[in-house]
Amino acid sequence: MSTVPRAACVIGWPVEHSRSPLIHNYWLKLYGIAGEYRREAVPPQNFAAFVGSLAARGYGGANVTVPHKEAALALTRPDDRARAVGAANTLWLDKGVLRSTNTDVEGFLKNLDACAPHWDRDLGKAVVLGAGGAARSVVYGLASRGVARVVVVNRTRERAEALRQSLGGNIDVANWEDRDAVLADAALLVNTTTLGMQGQPPLVVDVGKLHGRAIVADLIYVMGMTALLRSANARSLRIADGLGMLLHQAVGGFALWFGKTPEVTPELRVLIEADLNGAAKVTR
Ligand code: NAP
Repeated sequence: MSTVPRAACVIGWPVEHSRSPLIHNYWLKLYGIAGEYRREAVPPQNFAAFVGSLAARGYGGANVTVPHKEAALALTRPDDRARAVGAANTLWLDKGVLRSTNTDVEGFLKNLDACAPHWDRDLGKAVVLGAGGAARSVVYGLASRGVARVVVVNRTRERAEALRQSLGGNIDVANWEDRDAVLADAALLVNTTTLGMQGQPPLVVDVGKLHGRAIVADLIYVMGMTALLRSANARSLRIADGLGMLLHQAVGGFALWFGKTPEVTPELRVLIEADLNGAAKVTR
């Protein structure tokens, strides 16, 4: 059991919505580690100074969320993964050097591993909807598992083209209007757009076009299931949800800051679901 308190935080603007404190403080308590994880609301103009003073503020590292992920990359020494994705979401101090990585990649992959074991065996074609920061993590992750072909479908085609240019590999680009047509021979469909989020329009895509062994993953997390996952579930397709990814992406940061690789437990999932439902009281 650790006796020296250590601290980490999530830096965002806004940051009130972040579930990271709930996740990390759950693990700190579970493993009896003397430490704390806090929220830090930092506007963009103060981000560089804040990150530069992490150690002075008593932090050994931090998560970084919207809108700071690109700035975090520029202000730290990123690993290959963060550099390729073009964004960092996890920072840690390593002998005085501020280093960074992107744990969305492993969060996405580990969640699929848990929800659809062996999903990456001879996968064939994957379709990724969206071409923003989350899509870059997903496409990078798929390539790292040797997925033969990835089709990126985005409303703004140029952004998908740019993703293909920078990540390379076996990436094709399709028009947003053709998203149903490209599903016919796909083994995996991933939604990385903001469609389906609370307050956003629903994602309209015909999962009926997928074959019966296909897997559907949605990065969006809402209370219950997104409409996309509900329709996949109704067809008995294997599914992986955004909450699972969120929990798995937190593992790497906790291990770096607190020296223990935590487990994503059903109890933790229930806790965050309750919070999503507005029922949990956040204890800080
Ligand atoms: P982003 O960079 O802003 O990208 C948003 C994407 O959504 C773009 O591809 C955008 O297309 C598309 N989009 C937005 N409105 C649309 C519409 N009306 N019709 C069609 N496409 C639309 O955001 P991001 O950082 O990639 O994040 C995307 C989502 O993933 C967010 O909801 C985020 O919360 C979620 N996420 C979840 C996790 C997790 O752990 N579960 C991790 C990371 C991200 P255009 O390029 O045409 O604008």
